[in-house]
Amino acid sequence: MLRDATEVVSGPWPGAAAELGAALPDVHAVLLRTASLGTEAIEGSRSLRVIARHGVGVDNVAVEAAARRSIPVLITPEANLRSVAEHVFALMLAVSRNLIRADRMVREGRFTSRDRLLGRELFGETLGVVGLGRIGGEVARMAAQGFGMRVLGYDPWLPPDRIRERGAEPAETLPDLLRACDLLTVHVPLSGETRGLLGRRELALMGAGSILIQTSRGGVVDEAAMVDALRSGHIAGAGIDVYETEPPPPGHPFFSMEQVVLTPHTAALTEQAMRRMAVDAAQGILDVLGGADPYDPPDGARWQAFGPVAEPET
Ligand code: NAD
Repeated sequence: MLRDATEVVSGPWPGAAAELGAALPDVHAVLLRTASLGTEAIEGSRSLRVIARHGVGVDNVAVEAAARRSIPVLITPEANLRSVAEHVFALMLAVSRNLIRADRMVREGRFTSRDRLLGRELFGETLGVVGLGRIGGEVARMAAQGFGMRVLGYDPWLPPDRIRERGAEPAETLPDLLRACDLLTVHVPLSGETRGLLGRRELALMGAGSILIQTSRGGVVDEAAMVDALRSGHIAGAGIDVYETEPPPPGHPFFSMEQVVLTPHTAALTEQAMRRMAVDAAQGILDVLGGADPYDPPDGARWQAFGPVAEPET
């Protein structure tokens, strides 16, 4: 798409989370996946008009520097939400049906030990969803409509009607939700306010034997508290895709827990999401270079500008 309309200069940093330093070539747009675009690079490039990022995270872009120069940073919020939501169910089912242990049992010739693996249905269970944004909203909808679960939602930034529209009954407080659910899934961004949102006290409020799914960002759930709750059996099982340190260090307590299913931050890694992210980000660049207002995208656009509109530099 880009080559048809522009001249494309590839970075010499394939796959690596390398820093694009001050030596940014004379470009009008930068399309980024995991490489970092720092302050120096942004300030040093007079021609730069738009930055686009695969996905929603902008932690690898010096957004303040971009804002100071009124360079929009585009994100592709729609591209991977379905993939992450489906991964939540992959983890929920893997934990509730002991999938990993069952697979090992067959391979190791212990087929007849299957009675030890009594599973749990999702049907009729109460799912607590913390954060009913794009991903949490889709999870709530799929849980209610696809699995016949009762869904409770907690999101202090959304009016109760918006939570109901997403298929969840609104819980007034986080403790109300925690006390009522059999399974819990978390979908809030990591910020100063949400770091440790689910700590020791909150996990203790969950019903004994409940299941926790963590696909948001490491740090939203206090990992040490989660380890203790799993060790004591208060939380019966967990499905985890994101960690406080990635990759988690060797010997991490999760590694020896059979009731925990771990994935290496792969919730959004599907063929479809990767393609959508690439196409949406490239389209964003073409639209903005073609004159579209980044803060008022054309109808049907699957990209948006991150953050507030900055005052232009004088
Ligand atoms: P979103 O911005 O659409 O939704 C987040 C929601 O959380 C918002 O509705 C917001 O009101 C709510 N929220 C904020 N603070 C809250 C709080 N204290 N309590 C309850 N709700 C609160 O975000 P999204 O696109 O749905 O993404 C959700 C999370 O998923 C993010 O953490 C993102 O980083 C993560 N994510 C993970 C992967 C992965 O590969 N595992 C991929 C994409 C996104």
